[in-house]
This record gives sequence, C-alpha cells and structure tokens, in this order.
Amino acid sequence: MPWFTIQILFPQAAKLLSIPLSLASTTLSLQRIPWDTITALTFFPFLFLAICLSYPSLPPSFPYYTQGITISSIGRLLKQSGLRVTSIKIDPYLNTDAGTMSPFEHGEVFVLNDGGEVDLDLGNYERFLSLTLSKHHNITTGKVYNEVILRERRGDYLGKTVQVVPHVTDEIQNWIERVAFLPVDGSEGPPDVCLVEVGGTVGDIESSVFLEALRQFQFRVGRENFCLLFVSLVPVLGSVGEQKTKPTQHGVKELRTVGLSPDVIICRSSNRVELSTREKISVFCHCPPSHVLSVHDVSNIYHVPIILAEQNLHGLLRKHLQLEAVMTPEPDLARWTELATSVDLFTEEVKIAIVGKYTGLSDSYLSVLKALKHASIAGKRALEICWVEASDLEEETEKGDKEKWLAAWKVIEEVDGIVVPGGFGTRGVEGKILTVEYARKRGKPILGVCLGMQVMVIEHCRNVLGMKGINSEEFAAKAEDGGKEGEQQQKQLHAVVFMPEINQAVMGGTMRLGARPTHVSLRNAKKELTLAGQLYKGSEEVWERHRHRYEVNPELVGSLEEAGLHFVGKDETKTRMEIVELDRGVHPFFFGTQYHPEFQSRPLEPSPPFLGLILAASGQLPEYLKAAGAN
Ligand code: GLN
Repeated sequence: MPWFTIQILFPQAAKLLSIPLSLASTTLSLQRIPWDTITALTFFPFLFLAICLSYPSLPPSFPYYTQGITISSIGRLLKQSGLRVTSIKIDPYLNTDAGTMSPFEHGEVFVLNDGGEVDLDLGNYERFLSLTLSKHHNITTGKVYNEVILRERRGDYLGKTVQVVPHVTDEIQNWIERVAFLPVDGSEGPPDVCLVEVGGTVGDIESSVFLEALRQFQFRVGRENFCLLFVSLVPVLGSVGEQKTKPTQHGVKELRTVGLSPDVIICRSSNRVELSTREKISVFCHCPPSHVLSVHDVSNIYHVPIILAEQNLHGLLRKHLQLEAVMTPEPDLARWTELATSVDLFTEEVKIAIVGKYTGLSDSYLSVLKALKHASIAGKRALEICWVEASDLEEETEKGDKEKWLAAWKVIEEVDGIVVPGGFGTRGVEGKILTVEYARKRGKPILGVCLGMQVMVIEHCRNVLGMKGINSEEFAAKAEDGGKEGEQQQKQLHAVVFMPEINQAVMGGTMRLGARPTHVSLRNAKKELTLAGQLYKGSEEVWERHRHRYEVNPELVGSLEEAGLHFVGKDETKTRMEIVELDRGVHPFFFGTQYHPEFQSRPLEPSPPFLGLILAASGQLPEYLKAAGAN
C-alpha cells in the first residue's frame, strides 16, 4: 500500500464558470467528448483539498480500512452536507494504467464503465460516493508523460526545451482541472468538490513531481480554495499502549520541505487518538489542535464518516473553503448511521469460501469482498469469508502435503456458499474445476465470475459431456509455442476460446473491457423462469463490466444446453455467452457470469448475482423469489 496520499477538493466550479451545457450533460456523453475539447475548461477559481498519508505500508492491525476509505468517508460527509462530489486518484508509477499490474502487488485492477483499468481506490470512491468515474480520473506518471511527449511531437511547445518544471507540472495541474469538471453522479453540470488522492510516499522520487505540481496549484487556485489534509499513521506501542507521534511529525516535516503544509491532520490509529497526542502533533506540526483528528478502528467502515462528523471535519472544511453558501452546517447522516449500526447487529452468520489464486492478499479480490458484504447486509447476515487457495485442492497437493489438501477441502465442505472469482493463468485452475464439480454434485450454492464461469463450462464439458481433458485455450496455449505439437494443439477443441477480435500480441488495454449489454432470457429452453431473469427483476437488458480475452466456445453451446447448462444471458449478437445457470430444480444456486458483477455493487444496492448467492447460502432465496412475485 502507498504510505501517503493527497486528496484535493474543488467546490462550486458550477457557479463560477459557464461551461457549455452540452459538455456537462451526463457522464457517458462526456466520455465521448474528444479529450482536447475538455482542455478548454481550465481557467476558473476552485477549491482544493489534499490528503497525505505518511507511513510505510499499514500494519496488519489495519487490514480493513486505509486511506482510500478515509478519503471516501470525507467525500460522503461532504455529500451528506449537500455538495456534489467527484474524485481523482493519482498513482505515481510509470504504467499507463493498472491493467498490466499484478494483483499480488497492487490489489485488484478495478474496471470502469468506459473500460478503464484503474487503481482499486476508484472502486472505493464509486461505492462510497455512488459515482461513475472515467479512466481520466486515474492519473499516472505514465499517462502524464505520454501526454507531454505527444504534445512535444506535435510541436505544441513551440521550440522550447521541454522540462519537468514547468511542462510536466503544468500538465498535471491542467489534467486535474479538466477532470474535476466531469459530472460523475448522474446529474448535469460540474460537481462542487473534487477529492484528489495522491498515492506514493512523501519524499519518494516518484511522487515528487506531483507534490511540486500541487505546490504550484495552491497559488494557481488560491489558498482559500485549497485545503490540504494529511492522513498519518499513529502507531500504538508497548504494553501501556503509547501513541507515537514521530511518523506524523516526520511526514509533515517532509511535506513542508516541498512547500506544502497540512491544514488538517487525520491520525489513523487503532485506538481513539488521545487529546494529549493530538496536542503534541499540533505543536510539532504547525496545525491547530482542533484540526488534528482521530480516525481510529471502528466496528465497520460505514462508521468512518460518522466519527469524522463527530470531530467537526465538515465545519472545518466549510469554513476553510468558504462553502457556507452551498454546504449545510450539519451533514444528514441518518441513513448512513442506520446502515452502520445495522451491520453491527446481525447475529446469524453466512460463510462463503473464495476459491482463488491471490488469496494471500485480500485486496486482490476487494470488489468481490465488497459485493459479498453488500449482499450480506441486504440478507441481514454477518459475513464470514474463508479463503481457499485453489491449488491446495488439487491432486498434487494431496500427494505432497495431504494435511493442507484435507484442510482446504474441509473448508469447502463447511461453507454455506462458494465464489470462484476471475483470474488469469494456469495455476489453480484444476482446483477451481474440482470445486465446481463438488458444488454441482453436492448442491452447494456457487457463483462463478469470469474465469469462474469459464471453469463451470469446462467442468460441464468434462464431467457431464464426457469430454475428458478439455480445457480453455488460455491454459492449452503453452503447447502452441512449439512446432508440431503446436499445430496439433490448434486443431484441438477447447471449451473456452480466444475471442477473435482480441489482439494477441499487445497486453495493455486490449481485452474486452468495460460496460456492455447482456440480453437476459427470462425463460429457459424448458420455458421455466430463469434465475438470471428473476435476480435482475425482469430486466431483459443489463449492463455490467467486463475484462476478458476468452469466451465460451460457441460450437459447444448446443450440447451444453441439452445437458442442462442454460445460457440465459448473451451479448447483443447472441453469439457470446454471458450468463450460465442450472435449473433451480436441479441445483439451489449454480450461477456464472462472464462479466464482473462485483464492480457495480453498492452498499445499499447489492449486485443481483451476489445477492442471489448470499440468499441461497442462507436459505432465503426461495422466499425472496416468491416475495418478488417471480415464482
Ligand atoms: N483469463 C480469462 C480471460 O481472459 C478470465 C479473465 C477474468 O477472469 N477476468 O478470459
């Protein structure tokens, strides 16, 4: 995790400028506007809030909420005070986007409607603030330099020597300005406030150019329009639980060496940060004591906006950014408080296994976790996640480490439901196929997402259609490297095949990405109501986000249908399979989607496939479908 972040707020851009409304209609139409058109929207005064987190990787006692949630919570507080909020994440790495990055290192790659493959913090913002962001809302060093180099090649710099200062720093500032205007909450016109988070570390070579851009930016927009919040870790040490202020002091010192001084310091700690600790930070960090706030561990993340409100963060921002005219004095957190407290009160548990490949880092499946959480809130159950490394279920582990193998299978037996999430590469695929076989035969509720659905199809081909050894072209691909064997391999029948339109040579940004329509069959081949149709409440077209290179082999669809695996969701051409399910008479919940429904799940609007899984796993699905009038 990055150990510092910066977040920026722009308020009331709307009232300060008159941009053509055609540019500000809906997010979708704005995304179609050529990038250069948006460049025109630059010169206006705005407000700006920056947040930094200054401590290397958060210790294990902070597994469930970090700076992304803290920043999203600030956004929620402002939203509940009547402001329209947007957000930007800055990642100081050279990759153009997160698409080519390993989930092991950076956590999941979050996918946006426009197909942007971005940092997982954008997922936090979308969920917490009910936004629909675009790829431009994730700025990376790679993207900025790319833009500057393109401009240089076009001759935009009129013969000047192109330099980090001012050309790169200007590009960063212009980019922030452009993006801040895009409406992202479904309403017309630009938002009031923009939150910008900078990943990286104060003092890093990587992030220094962004800090310099922000230093300049405070003068471009004016100090009254710029508020810097520093989120810093306050570790608790020793048996007496002493709260240490040194990391915060150090972080602020580093920040001040680059010309930035925090207006508010947010102390992330396991326990409530004591008054004496806050006073000490205030003295050493050049910030009034009332501006040093505690963001401590709470029973669930929905409490974070509430603890910020208790410490009057909204009041501080309202005053500093002169928002009196547009922001209510107190936030309306009634519904949010109800959500936070209800989550604490669930007594009945639902246990779900995630059978994956990156189970060592739970952030690799962050959106899946969140979607399960949202669905379990709707199902009024306390969620327990059991991680299962797919390869632990395989024959090889049985031979090499029987205890590990037994332990993994014990978890599969004991849970109420299973998710086989998306993934890439061969490792663990056989374990996933075995999981699907187990769940299918034992009637255990199971949801397959993307690779998970592909695995459901492979399992059916192998074990129901008797096509021994059939696989996905993705995992058979290795043999294709070598001469004759390769030629044979290409003729081999695969259950899942490369999509014809996909570029096989270039990895970055070349998958089938983003929101696309799925046509849902409300009745299956036997004229029975489909689970998909019922879960999506009778919608015949649903838009969900995609990220894949392979698809179910269309040649096999007929035989699979006859064998009882129903393809009840297809793309607009009706040739690409999007949803599979078994009849509910055959299995209580066996459901797979080629798309990733987890990306559009929201705390109070759970994703239908995940809701279906949780309800089935907790024995509530028949009732739910009946109540919905579908049965
Ligand atoms: N590797 C598979 C594909 O590219 C599945 C991708 C995924 O699960 N996101 O189609």
